[in-house]
Amino acid sequence: MEGKSSAGDIITFLGTGGARIMVATQILASGGLWLNLSGTEILLDPGPGCIVQSTKRKLGGDKLSAIILSHRHLDHSADVNIMVEAMTQGGFKRRGWLFAPADALETEPVIFSYLKDYLEGIEVLQEGKSYSVGNISLATPIRHIHPVETYGMVFTTTEHTFAYIADSRYFDGLCHNYGSELLIINVVFLEPRPTIDHLSVADAKHIITELKPKVAILTHFGMSMWRAKPWEIAQRLSQETGVRVLAARDGMRFDLSQLDNLEEAD
Ligand SMILES: [Zn+2]
Repeated sequence: MEGKSSAGDIITFLGTGGARIMVATQILASGGLWLNLSGTEILLDPGPGCIVQSTKRKLGGDKLSAIILSHRHLDHSADVNIMVEAMTQGGFKRRGWLFAPADALETEPVIFSYLKDYLEGIEVLQEGKSYSVGNISLATPIRHIHPVETYGMVFTTTEHTFAYIADSRYFDGLCHNYGSELLIINVVFLEPRPTIDHLSVADAKHIITELKPKVAILTHFGMSMWRAKPWEIAQRLSQETGVRVLAARDGMRFDLSQLDNLEEAD
């Protein structure tokens, strides 16, 4: 205990696996990120297994204020229906918000229509907008290049800022819109695969070098990343970029108060 009175900001990784084969095999879990920010609990990208990963860590869905989907792909949204039920105590309590891009909600919605009535409301994520949940604000500065409508986010809590670069092909906008103390970045590929809209290690290195956060956390690993030992890649990137780079682990809790005594890289 550090004796601080504030509620603090903690991110729990309910999974670090990404893309189809990894998620289908569950070698790494795929439950998304559970944010506890100044006492406001938010679930980000509840992929397959989120309900299992969260309950086994005693994270209660009924504590959530919002569920956010960066995009509709299965590894980011599969458990959204059960998590809406958990957030609303089976629909007995109308509460909580869902944030998602329009294409996750329109022609083929990822959420069942009967569950929508359980929510306080649904907010459609759009490029260049910002939103609030309790005392937290989040912005979706730029649409990503990905087969479906996708946004990353910048969160501002009472004490910290952090950014989440969700799935995307590399483009320069990723280096200009996610300035923050902590950068979480979805790195599916070890080597660049130009025909597929995901980031590789080389892309991540470039983005981290440009954005210079205090800490960067790699996650959402495909098979090639996993075989290459993400923690070794993170160590190498730390040396090459001068930024402290970590590889997320399933179940890892990152306390943002760790950022308070770090200077940003030169
Ligand atoms: Zn995706």
